[in-house]
Amino acid sequence: ENLEKPLRIPPWLRVKLPETKNFSGTAELISDLNLNTVCQSAKCPNKWECFSRNVATFLIMGRLCTRNCAFCNIESGDLSPLESDEPARVAEAAKRLELKHVVITSVTRDDLPDGGAAHFAATIKAVREAMPECTVEVLIPDFQGDEAALETVLDAGPDILNHNLETVPDLYDTIRPQADYHQSLELLARSKRKAPSIPTKSGIMVGLGETDEQIMPVLDDLAAIGCDIVTIGQYMQPTRHHPRVTRYVEPERFEEYAEEGRKRGIENMFCAPLVRSSYNAAKFVRSGK
Ligand code: SF4
Ligand code: SF4
Repeated sequence: ENLEKPLRIPPWLRVKLPETKNFSGTAELISDLNLNTVCQSAKCPNKWECFSRNVATFLIMGRLCTRNCAFCNIESGDLSPLESDEPARVAEAAKRLELKHVVITSVTRDDLPDGGAAHFAATIKAVREAMPECTVEVLIPDFQGDEAALETVLDAGPDILNHNLETVPDLYDTIRPQADYHQSLELLARSKRKAPSIPTKSGIMVGLGETDEQIMPVLDDLAAIGCDIVTIGQYMQPTRHHPRVTRYVEPERFEEYAEEGRKRGIENMFCAPLVRSSYNAAKFVRSGK
């Protein structure tokens, strides 16, 4: 199947990135502080827009992951010990970039007893101390269902708790083999129960082989657990070794997904081809929830 020609990239996904002085300054600062951002490592098409809106997503706990999800461009491999000064470096970057909203995410560290929860909490606290006005969103791994790990993160008081379902349940075996759909859903449900004042957020990608019919039950599930924010965006093949894009969903269809979500009671539906999990996050916080 992989010998077939890939689908043509439609015009609505071709974004030109204007490289401004401000923009390269941001990139330099991030590399000076020896930090990783998803914006850069995933070559996110929204980088220019987000950086110029003072939003960035930091990837903590290393460059290598203990898992190997099919869609992801982050490599798996030997893991390095956590850097105890990393929370302070993230806070320093947030301060120097005058960020209004920080998204903190990580590779999945199944090798650590707490999955890195304490490191997440320390990073939230460091940013809070350095930038009391800045809102903090965490995009966390599933912690293999570890309740104490989730509580450690919630106790640090993030403004948004984000955990992505990534795809429909039927594709987990091929796309997200080390994860479990119900475990991920339960993490979001548990967060709502334990810390109802912290909005929860989740998202999926389309173009991985799912059908629209398979997406609707996912919206049902997210609505049932009171998920506050849902993102749906187009999967794009990061390299030719990753799964092919099975379909490019038209912008109008994304609008219909948003409508379906709202009908089910999910108020904040962000659905468009270029929507990424961390995209437009600040908009939600600023609009007062
Ligand atoms: Fe970074 Fe997320 Fe914006 Fe992409 S959408 S540039 S990953 S903050
Ligand atoms: Fe990528 Fe996250 Fe999967 Fe690791 S767990 S391979 S970082 S999507």
